[in-house]
Amino acid sequence: MVIGAGPAGLTASYELMKHGLTTTVIEKDPTYVGGLARTVEHKGYRFDIGGHRFFSKNQEVEDLWTEILGTEMLTRDRLSRIYYRGRYFAYPLKAANALWNLGPVETVLCMASYARARVQPIRDPRSFEDWVRNQFGWRLYNIFFKTYTEKVWGISTKELSADWAAQRIKSLDMWLVLKSALLPHRRPANRGDLVTTLIDSFRYPRFGPGQMWERVAEIHREKGRPVRLGRAVERIKHDRGRVRSVVTKTALGSIEEHEGTDFISSMPIRELMQCLDPAPPERVRRAADSLSYRDFISVAVMIDRPDVFPDNWIYVHDPTVKVGRIQNFKNWSPDMVPDQSKTCLGLEYFCFEGDGLWTSTDEALIDRARKELAQLGICTPEEIFDGVVVRQRKAYPVYDDAYQARVDIVRDYLRAELPNLHLAGRNGMHKYNNQDHSMMTALLVARNIATGGGFDPWKVNADAIYHEESRVGDKDTTGLQVPTRLAGSAR
Ligand SMILES: Cc1cc2nc3c(=O)[nH]c(=O)nc-3n(C[C@H](O)[C@H](O)[C@H](O)COP(=O)(O)OP(=O)(O)OC[C@H]3O[C@@H](n4cnc5c(N)ncnc54)[C@H](O)[C@@H]3O)c2cc1C
Repeated sequence: MVIGAGPAGLTASYELMKHGLTTTVIEKDPTYVGGLARTVEHKGYRFDIGGHRFFSKNQEVEDLWTEILGTEMLTRDRLSRIYYRGRYFAYPLKAANALWNLGPVETVLCMASYARARVQPIRDPRSFEDWVRNQFGWRLYNIFFKTYTEKVWGISTKELSADWAAQRIKSLDMWLVLKSALLPHRRPANRGDLVTTLIDSFRYPRFGPGQMWERVAEIHREKGRPVRLGRAVERIKHDRGRVRSVVTKTALGSIEEHEGTDFISSMPIRELMQCLDPAPPERVRRAADSLSYRDFISVAVMIDRPDVFPDNWIYVHDPTVKVGRIQNFKNWSPDMVPDQSKTCLGLEYFCFEGDGLWTSTDEALIDRARKELAQLGICTPEEIFDGVVVRQRKAYPVYDDAYQARVDIVRDYLRAELPNLHLAGRNGMHKYNNQDHSMMTALLVARNIATGGGFDPWKVNADAIYHEESRVGDKDTTGLQVPTRLAGSAR
């Protein structure tokens, strides 16, 4: 039995079906499958919880997407820019465009600050700020890195570790930026050569990422195993070293108990461990309870205009507004809007559950979106004729300086005490996974159950590639994809 009908849960169940095994998928959402990759619908307008690009270095995952949706998978060119103080900067950065937008005075100041950083770098850079200042100079750091990073993670860049910057931004060196500006016709020889920041096309389902998972759910229905929607896992009963059943509750309070031989969980580790009955030892419980998450709000607004901007999305670095990114879903796929004379934008706000943004009313959030769009000069308030708010808990697992040790405690406990409870996916493993990565972990877990394969899903790396040669105890191969808070820094 599988907990969660997101990409990981549905991939696991789909794979098990291929091996002739039947399974039940439990999903707490009463309406949607797809989890974070669902597509929400409002009066015919479809939108993602954040735009979801389909791109993988893993050919097996790419083939699986094609197998499920065939010609419904579109290939889309990417256009995304950075908005900063009234100007649009190409992203990935292009030197000529950046210099033109900055203007001659700011350009000279940026060059001088870059030169100064090279001549007098901060010795032993510890923070994200130190590291990026050393690489690009203070002024470029301020324009292109500081505000957006702080919006996403809700932490000052002084408190974020330099390791993450080094890992994440290493491919964006000045030489590469200059080369791409001077030799724009040159393309990398193969997709493996692409650096993360330079990917310029991706695949996308005609009706958004949810279409992928709606189709997989339909296949389950056709096989007589419909996803059990609207059922939240409340208790996971175990005895004598095995999970025996999962107890679920619907919104109306009806209780069901589902038995099984193996259990795959893609629900957040923190909640999973709270459901175990009997409860795990205090040390394990505390480790799971201490995992933290960044939450997310998407405000979709409908605009009475056919074209608003040409990008798929815009990064908003401007510090005068709270919005972090703006998606234009029609530019992902024209079928995301029911009427081509209108546009649907998704304004993304990064937040913590319970903070001022999270607790604002829907009306206040739509009003904020309306004002911020007008302030950015994207549309007038009168052009917005409808809006809807989606709040997403636990959108990002947070990598603080203790998270890895805590996850290890949980993983080791489950391996030793409950070997038929398998973890997969993003929050399911507390890993900053994209869909392909989440799916790959699920495929391996399903194969372990079906064939006794002996794969270790924890060794799927950040490119969704499984390293069979790496062994238990090796250094983590996942790559540092999210920032780590510096030890001792205040929250
Ligand atoms: C803003 C944003 C942008 C993203 N952009 C991209 C992108 O461009 N490309 C890409 O590939 N990936 C992207 N991702 C990542 C992608 O969404 C995730 O990797 C993927 O959805 C993880 O799948 P999952 O099944 O592991 O988890 P989830 O999608 O979180 O699914 C878990 C499921 O479990 C259910 N569940 C939780 N608790 C319970 C319970 N107690 N009982 C029953 N069910 C429960 C949830 O409702 C959910 O449906 C993005 C994510 C975000 C937040």
